[in-house]
Amino acid sequence: MAFWRRAAQLRRWRSALLGAAEPPVRWTDSLKPFALLPSLGFLVALAGCSSYPPPTDPSYWDGATWVDDWFAVVQLDEMTWAIGEPRYLRKNVSYLITGSSRAILFDSGPGERDITPVIASLTRLPVIHAFSHCHSDHIGNIHRFAQVAAIDLPSTRDHAESEVFRPTVSQYTWIFPPRITVTEWWRPGQTIDLGGRNLLVVHVPGHTPESIALFDRERSELFTGDLIYARGDLFAMSPGSSLREYLDSTQRLLLMLPPSTVILGAHAAGDPRLSRDALVDLERGLHGILDGTAAWRPGWYPPWIFPLPVRRYPSGRVVILTHLLL
Ligand SMILES: [Zn+2]
Ligand SMILES: [Zn+2]
Repeated sequence: MAFWRRAAQLRRWRSALLGAAEPPVRWTDSLKPFALLPSLGFLVALAGCSSYPPPTDPSYWDGATWVDDWFAVVQLDEMTWAIGEPRYLRKNVSYLITGSSRAILFDSGPGERDITPVIASLTRLPVIHAFSHCHSDHIGNIHRFAQVAAIDLPSTRDHAESEVFRPTVSQYTWIFPPRITVTEWWRPGQTIDLGGRNLLVVHVPGHTPESIALFDRERSELFTGDLIYARGDLFAMSPGSSLREYLDSTQRLLLMLPPSTVILGAHAAGDPRLSRDALVDLERGLHGILDGTAAWRPGWYPPWIFPLPVRRYPSGRVVILTHLLL
């Protein structure tokens, strides 16, 4: 502020000396104090980057193998791997799910790094890229895959032409959504056969309208994307989020899942595995929000750059984030 006052004073002195008329005050002058905000945000973002854990952080998920200085892999069972990106801000976890004849890569992270060498080091099977939803931090490597599966819903088909699906900016939550050549359209309720291993496609709107989960009934494994994950803060405030659908999806899953189910979400600062009880916490929290009985406290998200005011609803193992004005 002192800088702008000083500049105005200099302009007045110059006018007095040169005899020029005082320049008129323009409405844009009132914006000048905010002109440095973008660079300030950038600096804050850089400061946030420097707080990332160092490469191959040994404190990340005990038992993880660092493939390089970015990806860390854990074999969950003889046919399933979690591929973590613990140095990325949102700490994404993608999953390689294999059968005897082919494999699924469920999400591929933000695309900061090429994930394909990691996949090649784990399986020789043909791999199809499926995605839990269209957010940019889940399909960042999708352009590197020849085989891509998408959920067959009006909200995806409406943005597809000749099998090329292009998410909208709000579905992608970032600019320049990719063009995705879809080789398989999976219907909700369809079973995907990987050769000796079947996965059920479960439509779970709530976080986004087109969100899906994959359920391996035989292994009691549920891959949930952003519906629920171990990192904590769950987003019921993305473009297209619906609290009612979020609750419906959670209740449907609870009816379907055996108590032994292992939940494998898409973000975790360590071991991503959750028990079915975490879904019970989510169900209770969503119920409380919708009937107005849940307690909340104000917060900001993200806590840096351009944060939005939010409501934070803690419920057991999870915290549900909604807009401040519901
Ligand atoms: Zn998401
Ligand atoms: Zn996510």
